[in-house]
Amino acid sequence: MQMVGGKFVKHFDLIIVGSGAGLMVMEAALSKGLQCAIVEKAKFGGTCLTKGCIPSKMLVYPADFIREAEESGRVGIRTPHPEIDWDAISKRMWDQIDFSKSIENSLKDVPNLTVYKGIGAFTGPNSMAISCEGKEDEIIYGDKFVIAAGARTFIPPVEGLESAGYVTSETFFGDKFPKKLWKSLAIIGGGAISAEFAHIFSAFGTKVTIIARSEILNKEEKEVAQFVGRQFTKNGIELLTNSTILSASAAGGKKYITIENSITKRHTVVECEEIFAASGVRSNADALSLEKAGVAVDKHGWIVTNSCLETSNEAVWALGDINGKYQFRHKANYEAQILIHNLFSDGDKKEARYDTVPWAIFTHPQVAHVGMTEKEAQSKGLSYRTAMNHYSEVVGGRAMGYRDGDGDNGFVKVIISEDKKILGVHIVGPQAAILLQPFVYLMNVGYQCKKTKQAMSARELDSLRILCPNIDTYEPINDSMVIHPSLNELTAWVFEKLNTAQ
Ligand SMILES: Cc1cc2nc3c(=O)[nH]c(=O)nc-3n(C[C@H](O)[C@H](O)[C@H](O)COP(=O)(O)OP(=O)(O)OC[C@H]3O[C@@H](n4cnc5c(N)ncnc54)[C@H](O)[C@@H]3O)c2cc1C
Repeated sequence: MQMVGGKFVKHFDLIIVGSGAGLMVMEAALSKGLQCAIVEKAKFGGTCLTKGCIPSKMLVYPADFIREAEESGRVGIRTPHPEIDWDAISKRMWDQIDFSKSIENSLKDVPNLTVYKGIGAFTGPNSMAISCEGKEDEIIYGDKFVIAAGARTFIPPVEGLESAGYVTSETFFGDKFPKKLWKSLAIIGGGAISAEFAHIFSAFGTKVTIIARSEILNKEEKEVAQFVGRQFTKNGIELLTNSTILSASAAGGKKYITIENSITKRHTVVECEEIFAASGVRSNADALSLEKAGVAVDKHGWIVTNSCLETSNEAVWALGDINGKYQFRHKANYEAQILIHNLFSDGDKKEARYDTVPWAIFTHPQVAHVGMTEKEAQSKGLSYRTAMNHYSEVVGGRAMGYRDGDGDNGFVKVIISEDKKILGVHIVGPQAAILLQPFVYLMNVGYQCKKTKQAMSARELDSLRILCPNIDTYEPINDSMVIHPSLNELTAWVFEKLNTAQ
């Protein structure tokens, strides 16, 4: 409690807004004996648990299963098209989301913690109003604030879309979850979330159309995006790329989207049972009245943070989706760990590093990405070499039925600097995420060195090279044994091709 204007008000050492990765900072603060408040307007656990990574994967896995069963003929197993028990699949998904209730219950009666279920918005540099439905706003004060309030779906301004009605990932994992599988679905957007839902519903038998402004998966390596596009088409997903949506409407139980192809200028009308908006994300900062706290946002509304996750208000830090840098839960967790160190430990501050943020797109075929694309390496003027290895070139892949020239014969592509540093790795095909992870570890080796190369004397640099000649290079892969015949050979043996690549 603290006296403000002659009144006692609630005062905390730390106020955290958002219960996704924000919970990690909260737990660390509590373990230090700090008085904390956590403010959450929706389900506890954040987007990943309640409407993102986790429930979506409960649907992706059965969809993978269906595609694998369909493809099993190539290894001599013929299966009829699997029967889908949507109720059972949905239940597994809701059971995961409901873990949120256990989190909320576990927060009750935690010493030093006050839980606010409501919307937080700054009223000044160190005060926040909490509004809960049916209650008067409560003002709370804090010495420090951590904003981990995330992002939400960006809804494109399309004429008629609101009245036609649509679902987003938020409403799909909420009140618009379909009791029965849709017969047809038009997905607006060509990014990762679109690709995951397209895979899920096409595998379950829904006729899926993707409407994308440019090409699909345009953050991926070009060959990877094209490969996924071809597999989507093979699996019956209609791709309407380079398409601008002109309007949407609903009539007679159907929805319609009129699009214009930006190259041919041709108009097409897409008919569907439901529209899924997966058209990117926008910041949740707009509800936080950040201007009252002097917290700067960029032109898109993302909170501006430096590498120590500090904002323009020295009492406010921000992490996760809301800082606009790589919207993945593992990136938010990584930032939470850095912030925990910077807020609660003595010694040098840690800085977040964003050049090795990995990600996977859990579509079919699976995609995994770390580091630069070839286009990025070119735009930086770097000298590099590339190499590719296909699944059919290793026994593990051939055992799965991949043959040279098969349309779905996925690959790994590496982009390597002249001094053997790993600049980028891109994988498309089975287990891409698992196959990528060792590269992420390698790319982080050497990061412990406090000094930058530029700051080191030539002598220091030389001794570092003698001690750790392999730092950040692919050499440890070349020097290691690789379990035979496992799919790891796909990624380990790609380096043999570097000499023959451009
Ligand atoms: C369909 C889908 C699939 C995804 N799949 C993956 C995946 O496979 N892997 C991956 O790494 N990432 C995935 N993501 C992204 C991932 O969910 C996010 O990157 C991650 O949840 C961000 O965590 P966060 O802590 O920054 O924010 P969030 O988890 O979004 O938490 C923010 C919380 O703040 C609350 N909040 C917001 N404003 C206020 C306010 N003013 N007052 C009080 N509370 C507020 C929100 O209700 C929310 O609970 C997916 C996202 C979606 C939508």
